[in-house]
Amino acid sequence: LPEYAFIGRSNVGKSSLINMLTERKSLAKTSGRPGKTQLINHFKINGNWFLVDLPGYGYARVSKRDKKTFQKYITDYFLKREQLVSAFVLVDIRHSPQNIDMEFMEYLGGNMVPFSIVFTKADKLKPAIIEKNVANYLKELTAGAWEEAPNHFVTSSSKNIGRDELLIYIDEINEQYFKETK
Ligand code: GDP
Repeated sequence: LPEYAFIGRSNVGKSSLINMLTERKSLAKTSGRPGKTQLINHFKINGNWFLVDLPGYGYARVSKRDKKTFQKYITDYFLKREQLVSAFVLVDIRHSPQNIDMEFMEYLGGNMVPFSIVFTKADKLKPAIIEKNVANYLKELTAGAWEEAPNHFVTSSSKNIGRDELLIYIDEINEQYFKETK
């Protein structure tokens, strides 16, 4: 089955987003303690695709050794990734592009992994600011390594924003995927 990988800095809201998408509150553990999602989890959704929960990166307070271990999990996954169709890189909508996220997106680009950006925690900002932040973020990206702005989604797990858009998008890619692999 096709896989979609979700990844981002620790505390970006990945577990909450996954819970929103899967509607199974008990599966991905959210907590105020960053860096808690350590292993790769697969969630089967609608019986026809896997949501892949990758370890969060960039948490300053984990040891160097743990960082290396996380990194290895992540790179091992992307190097194998037989079923991976696309990745979703989560970023907090309040922040401008961070080096660690840019580096990660460059890594994906360099390995020909298609990806979209998922802005998280949109409930924390007013709509006008959201629009401005998104535009700035994409502008900064395209001023750097990217010729074209990646596809993007604005989400809030606490206000249930962006869920349908993401799921519909994935369904559309899946339709194509199943046509091609028939
Ligand atoms: P992870 O480390 O990326 O899995 O992040 P979590 O999902 O555990 O969330 C980290 C913190 O951000 C928690 O305190 C969440 O309650 C909070 N959070 C996550 N998503 C949202 C959101 O959409 N809106 C708001 N206001 N807070 C959120």
